[in-house]
Amino acid sequence: MVQRGSARAGAYALARGRMVERLASAGIRDRRVLDAMRAVPRHVFVPEALASQAYEDTALPIGDGQTISAPGIVAAMSQALELEGGERALEIGTGSGYQVAVLSRLVGAVVSIERLPRLAARARRALDAMGVANVVVHLGDGSLGRPAAGPFDAILVTAGGPAVPQPLLDQLAPGGRLVGPFGGRGAQRLTRVRRGRSDRLAREDLAPCRFVDLIGGHGWVR
Ligand code: SAM
Repeated sequence: MVQRGSARAGAYALARGRMVERLASAGIRDRRVLDAMRAVPRHVFVPEALASQAYEDTALPIGDGQTISAPGIVAAMSQALELEGGERALEIGTGSGYQVAVLSRLVGAVVSIERLPRLAARARRALDAMGVANVVVHLGDGSLGRPAAGPFDAILVTAGGPAVPQPLLDQLAPGGRLVGPFGGRGAQRLTRVRRGRSDRLAREDLAPCRFVDLIGGHGWVR
């Protein structure tokens, strides 16, 4: 007899497979990113009442006025980091923990920083329940980065700030990439900054986007 729980898990896996097909048709080409998104159960990171919408391409509320980003933007940002495996990564804005769970499958280790205690605690619990062992979640102002843990080969900012925080640029390793939304409050440009081997910074504009505010010393004032 099929258990009700396992039938539900099967339905989620099917929905996740369809989500990955949509991401591939929408232009996500990085096989490792698609595989990571096929593996990570997004429904675990959204409030239970919204679990049935977990595999739609939409941001969802996670409490405290914050959101889990839509799968399309999670995939696009992960791809833009051009990860090969083994990197040391930093994420700003742990939120639900979903993006960092995806990242954890693409790099060697990730430090993730969240400013809101309730979200940080909930994300930690979800990551522990999934057995994710290469992510450390810190509570604090991520716009300052984590100098003691750097430098980082990849930095992902998942909240929108007025400009790329200087401390994060300072913590980007030679050859490293930083990706994040920067610009106005309510509308930003998804931006990638590369630090060349010679230490030169090159900036690229990738796409328009819309994220919740990066609040902090090198972000917006609350
Ligand atoms: N990566 C998240 C996920 O997968 O659910 C989505 C992040 S949500 C769009 C942005 C998050 O950034 C929120 O949880 C917010 O509290 C957090 N945030 C905003 N400013 C921050 C800061 N200075 N340091 C750390 N976290 C910050």
